[in-house]
Amino acid sequence: MLSGLKILLAGRNPGKLREITSVITPLGINVVSLNEIDPDGKIPTPDETGMTFAENARAKADYYAAATGQPALADDSGLLVDALGSAPGVRSARFAQENFPPQASREDIDKANNAKLLNELSGIDEEKRTARFVCCLALSDGTDIIAEASGVLEGVIIREPRGHNGFGYDPLFFVPEMGRTTAELDPKEKNRISHRGQAVRKFAEVLKEMLKKDKNSCRK
Ligand code: IMP
Repeated sequence: MLSGLKILLAGRNPGKLREITSVITPLGINVVSLNEIDPDGKIPTPDETGMTFAENARAKADYYAAATGQPALADDSGLLVDALGSAPGVRSARFAQENFPPQASREDIDKANNAKLLNELSGIDEEKRTARFVCCLALSDGTDIIAEASGVLEGVIIREPRGHNGFGYDPLFFVPEMGRTTAELDPKEKNRISHRGQAVRKFAEVLKEMLKKDKNSCRK
């Protein structure tokens, strides 16, 4: 079932795609991007209506596998801030939606989201600014979800942006063990510790086990 598997990376967020590709391709997994299959954006972006990252990842994977006929790997991820009752959570990408026009660039969306986050945390003391990034991955073969994995990175939301790498909330997300924000880490360092890096490595393990079982079943 899985031999010769080529996986579609479902989604168009370049930051996420870069991070997933850089971990997954050295593991020997063959990936193709949505932009290669659908360069003109004919496949509409699905609404994210799930209550959890896992639900959204599964729904996106199923949607893109059905739309393209390729096994599809989807990521749903975001930021949970303790002092905000775990917001923005599944709304991370559109946290400050009311403050940006529908056609806003990714950079403007990230800026508006970060400004809203700082504003909502303005009266909150250092020790209460704890937060975590969560990433859930799901692989659909078009009929079923055949593999899943997740990862978590703990951190603290600082008061001013620092660093220019990464995307989204990276300039505000300080990792105490590294003494830097995720936007100050180089891409390899971020992948080594990040929620997404962890999830992709776990996902690769799940996939390897599946491939092993698949081979064994042919020998019987
Ligand atoms: P979605 O998974 O497409 O709904 O978007 C997740 C959102 O969470 C992104 O647009 C970012 O705002 C945020 N996010 C997820 N992962 C990261 C990360 O590694 N760094 C910074 N922000 C992230």
